[in-house]
Amino acid sequence: MNNEHKTRVAFTIATITTAAIISIIFTVRRRTRRKQLESSSNSCYSHSEQKPQCTFKRVLADNSYTPFKHLSFNASGSNDAEKGSNLHPFEAEITALLTNNHQPEIELGAKKLEMNDSYVWVDTEMQLKELVDVLSNERFFGVDTEQHSLRSFLGFTGLVQISTQQDDYLIDTIALHDSMEILRPVFANPSICKVFHGADNDVLWLQRDFHIYIVNLFDTSKACEVLSKPQKSLAYLLETYCGVTTNKLLQREDWRQRPLSAEMVQYARTDAHYLLYIANCLIIELKQLDNENTCSDDKFHFVLEASRRSNMICLQLFTKEIEASPGESAALSLYSRHQSNQGSPSISDETQFLYTVRQLCTWRDLMARIHDESLKYVLSDQAIVALASQLPASHSKIYNTIVQTDVNAETGLTSFIPSPSPVVCSHLSDISQLLANELVKHGDIYSVILQKCLGQKGSCKLNIFNYALLVNSNLRPTLSYKHSSLKNPRQHSRKASRNLFVKKFSCKSPVYHNCRIFANDGRLLCYCDRKKLEWYLSRDLAKLVDEEPPAIMLLFEPKGRPEDEGNDFYIQSKKNICVGCGEGNHYLRYRIIPSCYRIHFPEHLKSHRSHDIVLLCVDCHEAAHAAAEKYKRKVASEFGIPLYVRRVIHPGQETEKLNDEGGVSPLQLRSAALALLNHGPRMPLNRREELTEIVKRYYGGREISEEDLESALQVGMRPIERRRYEKKRGVSFKHSTGNAAAVPEGENHADCAPRVSNVDTLNVDTLNGSYANEETRSGDNRQDDSGEPSLISDLAVDKATSNGNTILIKTTDDDEDDHDEAVNVDESLNRKQQNVVSDLSDSRDEESLRDEDSTQAKHHSKLSLLGHGPHGKQVVDHLLKEYGEDGVREFCQRWRQVFVDALKPRFLPGGWDVKHRI
Ligand code: AMP
Ligand code: MN
Ligand code: ZN
Repeated sequence: MNNEHKTRVAFTIATITTAAIISIIFTVRRRTRRKQLESSSNSCYSHSEQKPQCTFKRVLADNSYTPFKHLSFNASGSNDAEKGSNLHPFEAEITALLTNNHQPEIELGAKKLEMNDSYVWVDTEMQLKELVDVLSNERFFGVDTEQHSLRSFLGFTGLVQISTQQDDYLIDTIALHDSMEILRPVFANPSICKVFHGADNDVLWLQRDFHIYIVNLFDTSKACEVLSKPQKSLAYLLETYCGVTTNKLLQREDWRQRPLSAEMVQYARTDAHYLLYIANCLIIELKQLDNENTCSDDKFHFVLEASRRSNMICLQLFTKEIEASPGESAALSLYSRHQSNQGSPSISDETQFLYTVRQLCTWRDLMARIHDESLKYVLSDQAIVALASQLPASHSKIYNTIVQTDVNAETGLTSFIPSPSPVVCSHLSDISQLLANELVKHGDIYSVILQKCLGQKGSCKLNIFNYALLVNSNLRPTLSYKHSSLKNPRQHSRKASRNLFVKKFSCKSPVYHNCRIFANDGRLLCYCDRKKLEWYLSRDLAKLVDEEPPAIMLLFEPKGRPEDEGNDFYIQSKKNICVGCGEGNHYLRYRIIPSCYRIHFPEHLKSHRSHDIVLLCVDCHEAAHAAAEKYKRKVASEFGIPLYVRRVIHPGQETEKLNDEGGVSPLQLRSAALALLNHGPRMPLNRREELTEIVKRYYGGREISEEDLESALQVGMRPIERRRYEKKRGVSFKHSTGNAAAVPEGENHADCAPRVSNVDTLNVDTLNGSYANEETRSGDNRQDDSGEPSLISDLAVDKATSNGNTILIKTTDDDEDDHDEAVNVDESLNRKQQNVVSDLSDSRDEESLRDEDSTQAKHHSKLSLLGHGPHGKQVVDHLLKEYGEDGVREFCQRWRQVFVDALKPRFLPGGWDVKHRI
């Protein structure tokens, strides 16, 4: 090998090695970067935010489920917090005051009232000790506390104000959190009277944060009670006794703030400074009353009573509210509030809804404990309701749902709560999994979340407030309620929701009256309800042949018989039971062919309704409904017709195809607009662009203005939503014209502002004349997500029937039947007889208890854009165009098959057939 060759080989080897090394380095770097990205997307805001309470070295009440331990004394007299008890450490001392008829002795000399500019800010242990020395020599002092509760699970004391006759002290309880116990002796000293106003909370807060217990309290609000003062607020007392006005709004300030603003200092001092003077005045009044009636022996002791009531407060003990299932009471109260607000969505949605509310409440409770935040900071009540009812699937949809709901609900002072909170932003994937029912696959929600957040590779910061959650995780309440009757939330929620539905929706009276109509040769023609029967009788077209259940025989020969059509179905008597399982105690109607399709069928294919409306109990109804919803999605993908409208129609653009690419759902549009309006400037740029893109798509790609955003906010809102929205925004758009609603006042309509964005609203207006009218309808226009008003219209009928108010339901088929029949009767009997066949075919339907199709047809125009209305129409149009009426018939058969497959019904009436034809 010559040198040249050697060099070349060496060079090649070097090159290859270098390339390999470089490639390894790059791979490693890439991996590290990916890992960094992953971990940064994993990590929680809790790592980067330093909250004041993080400086506390000891906390008495942490966020775990372990009960609060009160101060206890061991034999040697020194306190031993570790042993902790649930007894009041000063019960004996307080009881002594109560039984010894303790009289408060607050006598001020010529003490001047004015509050000068000087006060003592106490934020070192040294100063605190000096204060204790001062207080030990006082016979009374005034006290008030301020607490912070938004960014803390249990809340903590941010300031304690103490006023003696000489000075006002403001104690920085954040800086001195771990030293506050120095004050215990003076507070527990029975010979020093502590004057508070409305001490109930302060007493508990001082126990919770510092194990400070009060012995010998005089509460000016209790004195007001005893004196029967017209008011007992501190503001009232300050005003009447001291001529001082105070702005109570300041109590809601963030008392963690340092330094305190001058205004806050003033407020805090005022709350304590005048207490001694006010107490003195009140005691004088109490004594006067005592002196006024000295004659009787069993007289009412005013001073003693005020003192007794005050010291009773001291006996209260702080406890952590520990629920059997955390978040449970919140969930139930949310649920019942939602119930009374919303009326009644469809049954399966309702079950899911309650279940999701409970899950979200539990999640919120645990997240609040882990991050030491208040529940309302983590996630607002209204956001929980919105998430549970809309079940947004993607992170951005979840984000938008929360923003939108919170902004809509925004009320003055709470507006500084970020929405969504950093907790939600750091843990969006939890919510997304929870909503998809994927968060908890095995185990329970507590261990899953604890592990995710605080476990070995947990995303969140371990701290003094949450570590006991992890350490004592065996104490978490899941264990306790496993043994209770509420086996698991899901079961309980199902049970609650089922009962609710049985009560609300089941038919109030038997559905089938099973009245029979016989031909004049004695052959059974059909079953019907009483009304139909009476119609024939009143016109002397039939005679009564049986009483219970009633039967008539026609006095004329009907043209055609059911069996001629080869169909026995209509001459079967029908039982008032669930066709699925035979349950006879409650049942409701179920439409086998979803109304969103059926209402678009050609009129003659809509007859024979009774075949495709069956009775189901709540459970079978739920199962059938779920199967139908699932199949709807299948239909949507099979036909390529989305369930939700993709594009909102502009005026003059009606010709545009609904499934046009680049469409935008009203909800998406609204959320985007809302987020942009309220948070636009503060959003990350890429998020802002993303949202702007959505809104621009709606406006055909042109640049958009603030007004456009405002208009977009109202696209596709239901009238009720819009009214709420207007109320909240304090804007009132004219109701008489649908157009005005979408366009801000004074806006020139000539450009492409979406004037008919509220297509549904507009039509509702013209149909019903007014919104008020619409509201009084018993919810029949309300639709569930599926766009099916089915259950709701059932409800309307039930109500009408059970009231004996048939007029109401006659806005449906009956009107039309009566009308036709009236015409027939006016003409010759001959003509009438010819019509009997068609009458009979109608009367078959009578027994189906009215499909309400016509109601729906009438209301069709107001099918919400958010429902499946447009989807149904497109599917039916497609079927008719491609396969004609047979396509529709086959489509019906498919739905019957879906129904049969889902329920395996055992009690279908004889003659019922998947292949049933018209
Ligand atoms: P106060 O002694 O009246 O200033 O109230 C003491 C503490 O109670 C305040 O610092 C607040 O944390 C809390 N607080 C009392 N009333 C309200 C309220 N209406 N809204 C919010 N917080 C309140
Ligand atoms: Mn106060
Ligand atoms: Zn976290």
